Amino acid sequence: MPRRYHVVVIPGDGIGPEVVAAARRVIEPLGFFELEELEAGLAYYKRTGRPYPDDFLDRLRAADAVLKGPLATPVGPGGYRSINVFIRQSLDLYANLRPCRGYPGVSPRVFNMVIVRENTEGLYTGIEGSFRDQAVALKIVTRRGSERIARFALDYASRKGYRRITAVHKANILKLSDGLFLEAFRELAREYPGIEADDMIVDAAAYNMARTPERFQVIVTLNLYGDILSDLAAGLAGSLGLCGSGQIGERYAVFEPVHGAGFDIAGKGVANPVAAIHAARLMMEHLAERHGDRRLAEAAEKLDQAVEKTLVEDRVLTPDLGGTAKTMDVAENVARRLGEML
Ligand code: NAD
Repeated sequence: MPRRYHVVVIPGDGIGPEVVAAARRVIEPLGFFELEELEAGLAYYKRTGRPYPDDFLDRLRAADAVLKGPLATPVGPGGYRSINVFIRQSLDLYANLRPCRGYPGVSPRVFNMVIVRENTEGLYTGIEGSFRDQAVALKIVTRRGSERIARFALDYASRKGYRRITAVHKANILKLSDGLFLEAFRELAREYPGIEADDMIVDAAAYNMARTPERFQVIVTLNLYGDILSDLAAGLAGSLGLCGSGQIGERYAVFEPVHGAGFDIAGKGVANPVAAIHAARLMMEHLAERHGDRRLAEAAEKLDQAVEKTLVEDRVLTPDLGGTAKTMDVAENVARRLGEML
């Protein structure tokens, strides 16, 4: 009997419930998970006047991991504060792991890179103020925060056999804040002689990613740059619906697709579920590493191959990738391919 993990599933808003159901379809038959569904977000807010239930954080903390769909954040004053930011700050999910790849014959560009985004500091601390017609947002960079994200990225690169890691920053202008981030990275990188560590200014990084994405392996960067560059990576791959992510801290971890609620295509059954399936795979990898579970690690690796076969060989593609497949067609195909390999 495989070990069973308690996973809280938040379907989320817009296309969230559709892509999360697709990810469930793929991972449930594996027998590793006890899934508990938890409601939060826009629909919950409209019904109850609160964005999430009272025991929300307790239930997240009690799980081995969380798999979530996108949660919508109303823009501007009013509404409620981002639930995503609330979760990552409350659970101290300091590392945002965003692997993204382009598939041959499917994506405009073929590459395989991992963006490690600092997830709790930078410009996302939510400290903003305004006076008359001036507004200010505080960007916070700490040595502790910089060191732990650098350590996370360097450990990840060395564990996964990457040979190069690039720190992306704007330390030529932001000499103290981004400068501190870069200094911490350079110091820690000396402890990893097997990995070539370099750095790049964020505008040059965007340019080089667009020109030669295949030259990047692991990128470690500050919060805002990581947010933007990972959408660029998804664009190079062909769709936001292709890349999953993990938000990881010392104790807790939350996995989700990189895309948002996709309200324009919600309810039609056409959203690409690959990002959500990759999020589930990253969760499997993470749990396997934390618990030394080799069977789960093996299943995660096969799941990655099943996704690749579905896209590249079977060409079961949703409309964002130029196909006509439905969300659940992709999930069924991935589940079938995975079943053949296990
Ligand atoms: P979005 O990612 O929802 O949509 C951008 C475009 O990409 C849309 O045209 C959409 O149809 C398309 N798209 C996204 N996912 C897709 C998929 N799986 N398959 C096919 N096409 C896909 O971005 P947005 O419109 O800026 O944001 C909508 C809402 O989502 C906002 O309220 C925002 O706050 C929220 N959001 C949440 C998260 C999260 O929970 N982590 C992340 C980003 C945005």
